Amino acid sequence: MDEFTLINKIKQSSYRQSSLLKGVGDDAAVFRMSQGDLVTATDVFVENVHFSRKTMNPKQIGYRALAVNFSDLAAMGAEPMFYLVSIVVPERWKQEIQSIFMGMDELASEYQADLIGGDTVSGEDLMISINVIGRVDQGRARYRHEAKPGDLVFVTGTLGDSRAGLHILQSDQKYEQADYFIKRHRYPTPRIHFSLGLRDIDRIALNDISDGIVSEAAEIAEASEVNLILEEESLPVSKAFEQFTEKERVDWKLYGGEDFELLAVTAEENWASIKDIAKETDTRVTRIGYVEALEEESKDRLYLVKKGKRQPISKRGYRHLT
Ligand code: ADP
Ligand code: MG
Repeated sequence: MDEFTLINKIKQSSYRQSSLLKGVGDDAAVFRMSQGDLVTATDVFVENVHFSRKTMNPKQIGYRALAVNFSDLAAMGAEPMFYLVSIVVPERWKQEIQSIFMGMDELASEYQADLIGGDTVSGEDLMISINVIGRVDQGRARYRHEAKPGDLVFVTGTLGDSRAGLHILQSDQKYEQADYFIKRHRYPTPRIHFSLGLRDIDRIALNDISDGIVSEAAEIAEASEVNLILEEESLPVSKAFEQFTEKERVDWKLYGGEDFELLAVTAEENWASIKDIAKETDTRVTRIGYVEALEEESKDRLYLVKKGKRQPISKRGYRHLT
């Protein structure tokens, strides 16, 4: 199968977005801007860095790669519209490429998003680069720098499940609810519906949890120039999470990452509406901390309260290029 045969196979037979004028098939795609602000993000996925054939099949790889990008849109308060996919395909992956695109379309169809272009080349390692385009009402993008002293901090869903799922996939041991954890790893849910539900909330800082809550909370604290305090005992975990060792539990819920839940900071007065939005969108939300004014003499921004004791906590998590 050559490049052109592949493009014909992955091309959607019809498009879902009415603003699209030209999708796949010309030198570039064209859509007409409606009112609102455009939001765009890109992520690159490389075999054996971000995913492995050992733990995921091609369809799951596609689904997850797009979910990660949609999660960035959710973290901006934006609704997905379009995506473009550039791939480097080694010979040994040629047969599976179509399934990767099927996995992406499975997620895209849930949110009425369209594949409108990309690029396809041969190479040594499988690489998938996705560019997503979304929209948000004018002036309503949700930035990290919007946290203020006195705000509350909350998170959607549960933490550490994806990391636990990966652990189970790589282990020979038997675990309770293994299927649940593995599913959380392979099929993360971008919190789009919940994020769009927040449209009437005046001010809320959002970050999606790709690198673990400590890292994401530190990013909000730094961008907003505030102190952010997390209460370890409040961090939500799923019931079956208790079966893991204490070391694993602490490590995974704080630094595990890839849960693609939303970490949010907003004024106390919004909490009642947020709980309603959570109910309407079937999303668990848990208060996990609060924001204080920056202490001038300290360079720490992020603190963890554990058994009543407050300590600065530094970000860790996976870093490329170290
Ligand atoms: P060009 O030579 O103009 O770059 P290509 O031959 O690379 O065009 O691509 C032809 C059409 O197929 C374009 O619309 C392009 O966006 C689309 N396309 C190519 N690769 C992909 C891909 N991996 N995913 C989606 N669309 C693709
Ligand atoms: Mg091209």
